[in-house]
Amino acid sequence: MNKPSRETLTVNAIRLFLVTLLPFSCAVPPVVASEAPSRGGALQTYPMQAIAPTIAALLGVPAPKQVESPPIEQVLKDLQGSKKVAILGVDAFGAAIWNRMRDKTPYLNGLAAANNQAQLRSVLPSVTCVNFGCMITGGSQKTTGITTFDSKLACEDLLSVLRAHGMRSGGFGRKDYTGDRLLGRYADLSVPGKAGDLEVMAGLMEVVEEKTLEFVIVQYGKTDDVFHAHGPFSQEAAEACAEADAWLKTLVPWLRAQGYAIIITADHGQHEITRNNGTTAGAHGSASDLDCLVPLVWLPSVAPATESPKTFHPQ
Ligand SMILES: [Zn+2]
Repeated sequence: MNKPSRETLTVNAIRLFLVTLLPFSCAVPPVVASEAPSRGGALQTYPMQAIAPTIAALLGVPAPKQVESPPIEQVLKDLQGSKKVAILGVDAFGAAIWNRMRDKTPYLNGLAAANNQAQLRSVLPSVTCVNFGCMITGGSQKTTGITTFDSKLACEDLLSVLRAHGMRSGGFGRKDYTGDRLLGRYADLSVPGKAGDLEVMAGLMEVVEEKTLEFVIVQYGKTDDVFHAHGPFSQEAAEACAEADAWLKTLVPWLRAQGYAIIITADHGQHEITRNNGTTAGAHGSASDLDCLVPLVWLPSVAPATESPKTFHPQ
């Protein structure tokens, strides 16, 4: 080994000096992060209560009186000028589940760029009726009074505000699910009695083609069922996520071509539990990030084509 030169010694002395200083420089944030933050870690998180005032502002009506959050400025900026807005809520599709299942959601991955996504935090308890109720009121459970999908809202709802301003809404979901029993009940139009998500989508498309609906909100229900039955990170859950992605791939471009700005989100997430018999299942309702952090992706409408888009009627 060569004898170290004077220069090398000097450099080493400076290094030693810097290393000695380092513990005292903790207040200064590192210039280069050692590791890129996880996809979720870099995203802004807004309260679920921000959805209703955001939709109200986009459609130019007052927010329901009791809203508990301001609108989301970034969404307002990106979707300003929208004449129609659609919320697509994939039941139980939490942010952590999407992170784990990204190889099953190529369509949604492609929609979500760095500047058109964030996260929402569900209100408590993190269950479906309470959070879809929040999306249409801007209120948490103490304000809405919702305990089941048949509850009567104890506060003003966005759908009634829109109606008072001459606009119409549609609320859609499967038979005996929140999308129909709660959202459909408060909306002007719904498609009751549909057993599956594809039938709901076909019914929604028929209604949207016939009537002008300024606001549409739809619940995709199968994901929650499968996650409960097999666990949210199971192989069955992965397949359910792929089906939800295919549903989005059909519905999103169709609605955008009909002039809708799109908001994709979920009501809550899920966490894994182990049953007494040792099998894996899924649950939600808690205040944990797994149950409460959900994706938020927004897209403007696309200019309507000169020909009206072909209607897709799934089986
Ligand atoms: Zn559930």
